[in-house]
Amino acid sequence: MGWKKEGNSLEREEQRMPTHLIYQAWKKTGRLIQNTKDSKGNDIQKEIKLVDPMTHKDMEEFDGYCYLCGEPTTHGMKLKKVFSNVFTDWNIGKYRTSTHVCPACCFTILTSPERHALRTFSNVANKDNLYLPNRVEMREFLLHPPEPPFVINLAVSQKKHIAFKGEVNYSRDIFTVMYEEMPVLIDRKEFTRLLELVEHFLYGFTKTEITTGDYNQKRILDFGIEEWEAFEERVKKYRGSPLLDVVMFVAQKIESEEKLQCYMASELKMNTLQQQHSSSMPSTAAGTEKEDQVGSTCGDKLNDSQKLVQNEQLQLELF
Ligand SMILES: [Zn+2]
Repeated sequence: MGWKKEGNSLEREEQRMPTHLIYQAWKKTGRLIQNTKDSKGNDIQKEIKLVDPMTHKDMEEFDGYCYLCGEPTTHGMKLKKVFSNVFTDWNIGKYRTSTHVCPACCFTILTSPERHALRTFSNVANKDNLYLPNRVEMREFLLHPPEPPFVINLAVSQKKHIAFKGEVNYSRDIFTVMYEEMPVLIDRKEFTRLLELVEHFLYGFTKTEITTGDYNQKRILDFGIEEWEAFEERVKKYRGSPLLDVVMFVAQKIESEEKLQCYMASELKMNTLQQQHSSSMPSTAAGTEKEDQVGSTCGDKLNDSQKLVQNEQLQLELF
C-alpha cells in the first residue's frame, strides 16, 4: 500500500507541470499522427517525429533543479545547448540560477533531425495521449476537453515556445489554455455559446469583420440589419477579449441558411415572419406558437449549446 501511494504521488508530481505532462503523454502515445492538408488542400496524415531528449548527446547527469520549470531533476541539458542565441525569454525561468533544463522541458523545445518541433503545433496532452490537433479537432477538444489533468496549447505563430508557460487543468468546465503566450481562462459554457454565435455570424461576415467590428455595409444589408444587430449586440462585449481570439482560432462557419434561421429563432428569439403573424395575438399564445414553429422547422437538430444544456439536465436527473 505504502509503495502504491508513493507511486501515485510521483505520478501526480510529474503531471503538475505542463511540460512533464506533455513529455509523459508523448512517451505513451506511440506514433504521433497529425491530420493536416497538403499543398493542394487534400487531407493527409503526417507522422511527426519528435526527439526524446534522454537520447540527445548533450543530455547529462545533473542533480539539481530545472531552470525552466523549477522541478528537481537528475538529468539536464546546459542552457546554452538548449536555447539559441536569439532566445529572449530569459526572465521566464522558474529557477533562474540553475544551469540546466530538465528532459521534459527540453522535449518541448528541441527540434528533431526531421525538423519537427513541438512549438510548431497546437497540442493537447493528458496522462495517456499527446495530440497535435488541427483547428477542427482543436474545436472539439475545447468543447469537450480530455480527461483531466490536461494541457491545451494553441500555437498561433508556431514559433514561440509556449508549452512551459501553460497550466495543467483539473476541470473540464473551467480551464486555461495558452493562446500563443497569453493564458486564457475558458468557461466551457460561455465558450460554447460564443462559438455558436460566431459560427452562425460567419455565415454572413468575415472573421476580420467580427473581430474588428468594421463591417462591410453591403454585407449588413444582405444579412439583414435587424439580424446583424442581434448578433453584433451579443458579440461586441467580447471584442478585444482573448476569449474571442480563441473562438476565432477554431470557429467553423456554418454553411446552411436553414441552420442560421433555426439558430436565430431558437437562440436569438428572432423570427421576423412569425413576429408579424403573431403581432395581434396575446403574448402567451404568440410565445407558444413561436416555440412550436421552432420545433417543427429545426426538428431535433440540436446545436452544441443546446446539447450541453440537455446533457446537464440529464446529469441532474441522474442524481
Ligand atoms: Zn523542466
